[in-house]
Amino acid sequence: MNIPDDLAEKVINAPAQTSDDWSKRAACAKENPEMFYPGKGAATADDAKNVCRRCPVSFSCLLWAVDTGEREGIWGGFSASGLGPIRRQRRRALDNR
Ligand code: SF4
Repeated sequence: MNIPDDLAEKVINAPAQTSDDWSKRAACAKENPEMFYPGKGAATADDAKNVCRRCPVSFSCLLWAVDTGEREGIWGGFSASGLGPIRRQRRRALDNR
């Protein structure tokens, strides 16, 4: 699933993250990490995305994946493999500030 335009816009224009404190509140904290890397375990991407849907820090997680260049796994409810265009737009936006 592609990131909706309104969410992509928020990611592109968000301030730079300076901390990963958000991860302490992650809904996946007690889940098997392999769930978030479909293909490496028995879980599917939908299993991971279902956990992300109830996560209070999904936006910070998605932003983290964009800013750290994650290319694998499920972050913020989306596949990291589809983050390239948003990553490039965000870099441009940060460079122009
Ligand atoms: S959005 Fe998903 S992968 Fe990210 S912290 Fe929350 S549950 Fe974990």
